Amino acid sequence: MNSPEHPHHFPYALSALPVTNRFGSLPSAFHTRLSATPLPAPYLVCASEQAADLIGLDQAAFASAEFAEAFSGNAVLPGSEPLSAVYSGHQFGVWAGQLGDGRAILLGEAPAPGSPTGSMELQLKGAGKTPYSRMGDGRAVLRSSIREFLCSEAMAALGIPTTRALCVIGSDQPVIRETVETAAVVTRMSSNFVRFGSFEHWFWNERHDELKILADYVIALSYPQLAQQPQPYHALLREVTQRSAELVAQWQAVGFMHGVLNTDNMSIIGETLDYGPFGFMEAFNPRHICNHSDHQGRYAYQMQPRIVEWNCYALGQALLPLMGDVDTVKDALTVFQPTYDKKIAALWRAKLGLITVQSEDDALVRELLTTMASSRVDFPVFFRRLANLKCDDPSADAPLRDLFIDRAAFDAWLIHYRKRLQQENSVDQARKIAMNHVNPKFVLRNHLAQTAIEKAQQKDFSEVKRLLHILQHPFDEQPENEAYAALPPDWAASLSVSCSS
Ligand code: AMP
Ligand code: MG
Repeated sequence: MNSPEHPHHFPYALSALPVTNRFGSLPSAFHTRLSATPLPAPYLVCASEQAADLIGLDQAAFASAEFAEAFSGNAVLPGSEPLSAVYSGHQFGVWAGQLGDGRAILLGEAPAPGSPTGSMELQLKGAGKTPYSRMGDGRAVLRSSIREFLCSEAMAALGIPTTRALCVIGSDQPVIRETVETAAVVTRMSSNFVRFGSFEHWFWNERHDELKILADYVIALSYPQLAQQPQPYHALLREVTQRSAELVAQWQAVGFMHGVLNTDNMSIIGETLDYGPFGFMEAFNPRHICNHSDHQGRYAYQMQPRIVEWNCYALGQALLPLMGDVDTVKDALTVFQPTYDKKIAALWRAKLGLITVQSEDDALVRELLTTMASSRVDFPVFFRRLANLKCDDPSADAPLRDLFIDRAAFDAWLIHYRKRLQQENSVDQARKIAMNHVNPKFVLRNHLAQTAIEKAQQKDFSEVKRLLHILQHPFDEQPENEAYAALPPDWAASLSVSCSS
């Protein structure tokens, strides 16, 4: 499949991948050109065929030494001018000053016909120190790299905007965290890696020329339709706020918790970015904190929508010099709440298999969540079992009721739910199909990731691969993989996920 723009062989051999460097064309204040720190004896841990397809990269390359050399950062791809970008940000609500790609190196971008910009940037995470490393060692451990890899691809399969992951390359090089682990590099892909914190950097340094250059760059690359608007920067903030509101609604509906929603981890194109101590909701608790370093629960599940809005305000403040007055900024930010409310309501209706819109739906959802929380009901398991409900036959409710300690409360909710279904003449079989299309059977539960990680630490990468392939089809029944959809084992309760990565 050769196109006129890409006359080379498609899929590309690794050495033929046409890499260009658009972010590198920004003035030198935006980045530092550098080389990755060599990673001793790199080997392939896992790679995503689907991610490779996005850039037309030949999968035959995965097993080659050349592949491990390129995506460990040891060898530079032809055309690539590697760099790290500067940014700043608010961490846990506090201005943190300059941060930047402390362990990320952008290789450039490759053509990707399916991407909104027509290309995907390739970024190594964990490829060594950069001028922005501060106290860090520039490395990432195998554990966190596998988690980022699997979750990126899982989120994409769930239909949630996210950066992608091409591969993880490992090495036996020791890396010190709470214990001694080994180094790995994950290659991420996005059509645009600019963060909210990239804008805040220039605002807080009072560099308004660079602020404008960055805004114009982001508009030209990812929001070209806004360039013609009477107030392009207002339109940019509005659009980013809208995308962010829709993104966090999708997180809530699937039970995804990011864990570190600092402004430097907020993507300017509304993708899920920077997978660290993330988690998926299991035993439902709206106050659940997936990051054990987040003592105050700033980034707890139920806080996420407010925090994402807060982050949009931080972006709005940074864009203020381009808009001139506070009212214009505020006006753009007003889209957050209605966008979120509309999106989350639609997602909840779909999760419950409802087709029509009724005024009491909001109350129905709230009542369900209260009931689920008081019984700590497993989030994915509940919605899959709910899909089996027979509208006119409560005698088949047992598997569902069994999930609740407070049966009376759940029974009361079920009466409301049945009435609501009957009101719109819901058809059991059709509803089941629709619900199973939006409620995943398979999510990246911590214990599943942990099992794959422990095997990988013993150089058995088969479980990572297996998990990847399961998570690439999260809505399918996959009867042979039933165990991966089951309630977590007892030992999972003792797993804790810290910021250390
Ligand atoms: P995070 O909370 O993971 O998004 O990281 C916040 C900042 O710390 C970013 O600027 C990262 O690049 C940087 N950082 C995190 N871990 C390391 C590390 N091991 N070495 C260098 N910089 C790091
Ligand atoms: Mg980060």
